[in-house]
Amino acid sequence: MLLTKKHRIALISVDGDPAAEIGQEEAGGQNVYVRQIGYALAQKGWQVDMFTRLSSPEQAAIIQHGTNCRTIRLKAGPIEFIGRDSLLDYLPEFIAEFQSFQQNQGFQYSLVHTHYWLSSWVGMELKKRQPLIQVHTYHSLGAVKYSTVSDVPAIASIRLAVEKNCLECVDRVVATSPQEQEHMRKLVSSLGRIEVIPCGTDIEKFGSVERSQARQTLGIAPDAKVVLYVGRFDKRKGIETLVRAFAKSSLHSVANLQLIIGGGSRPGYSDGIERDRISGIVSELGLENYTAFPGRLDEAVLPLYYAAADVCVVPSHYEPFGLVAIEAMASRTPVVASDVGGLRFTVVPEVTGLLAPPKDEDAFALAIDRILINPEWRDRLGEAGRQRVEIAFSWQSVASRLTHLYTHLLPEVVTTQEQERKPQVVA
Ligand code: UDP
Repeated sequence: MLLTKKHRIALISVDGDPAAEIGQEEAGGQNVYVRQIGYALAQKGWQVDMFTRLSSPEQAAIIQHGTNCRTIRLKAGPIEFIGRDSLLDYLPEFIAEFQSFQQNQGFQYSLVHTHYWLSSWVGMELKKRQPLIQVHTYHSLGAVKYSTVSDVPAIASIRLAVEKNCLECVDRVVATSPQEQEHMRKLVSSLGRIEVIPCGTDIEKFGSVERSQARQTLGIAPDAKVVLYVGRFDKRKGIETLVRAFAKSSLHSVANLQLIIGGGSRPGYSDGIERDRISGIVSELGLENYTAFPGRLDEAVLPLYYAAADVCVVPSHYEPFGLVAIEAMASRTPVVASDVGGLRFTVVPEVTGLLAPPKDEDAFALAIDRILINPEWRDRLGEAGRQRVEIAFSWQSVASRLTHLYTHLLPEVVTTQEQERKPQVVA
């Protein structure tokens, strides 16, 4: 479905810069999602502007990603990194900057797709000031997140209220999995309109290299049994469970086991502190010689790591969607994941990988071993994962579904497909 005329839309992700380096604290799935749908929607014919916050004086205010897609960084508060939980006070300034940007450009956006609860508030405030369709994706629900952590931040009650208001008021909420939709209905509100449209992944980037070739490039032995983690260093990600499960593998005496923990961190910040805690557990369990911390994996090497692994483990305590699982599946690598949230939707147990109860290191050890011990089954799981991603999770299919939703909400937008469906009037 292609648009017959360019329509301007704004994706608003105050805290998740789509042009940022991915894999460090607070730059993860949301940033990837916004960037990729931005690119894919632009290819469908939308004029896409992705709005975020300026967080360093070195950053460009506008980045042009292609003819129809750009990142626009607005000033909101001090020009430095500010954690999500401290951003609320700067949102009024973000709104004022957004409005003056529109004024300078001489147009108003008729549709905004907001990301994460902070931007949902921005969208709802803008809606009071101009005619606007608002679509929202939560990326994480406070009601679920706070039930899995011991240290609930002071902002929690405001976040929960904004998330409820958003579900009840915006034109459409996009849930990225049926599990997220269920959480919204059970924990947030029975009111409001939800549509399930999953996240996607780049099926050309992931899956283009074979295991043996990837290992050769990365210097990994052909006979090694490689267990891979990719993601941020955050307690919610459950890396400790993986390390303890790896230590419990029954294969240490018979196989060349290797654990690779990929993800960026900065000393002194919360991801650096979590990385130090994890490497402390690695040492305590005597796993230093079997464990590698390659740091942040950029897009040049990430596909190689996924392809080189025998199994990719996603041990999160809570995961609204979990892009890493579908990236691994696209790379034909089976996934062992926690039986939570979106991972229940993406990973089909015994078909594309295995699910284990979160924090259950024995169950994770058993699941990992079952795959490592049987390379033929590993390959069958990997092939089925690839097929599942090709069918359900390409960015192109996500952008088609979003285009369908936006055009439905913006009745004046006409697509070529709709024109084809219209009966031809013969003069
Ligand atoms: N990622 C990356 N390099 C790294 C670690 C992570 O590019 O070193 C990317 C990863 O490929 C995925 C995203 O960060 O696209 C993480 O998304 P996910 O939904 O799995 O988790 P989130 O960060 O949103 O909690």
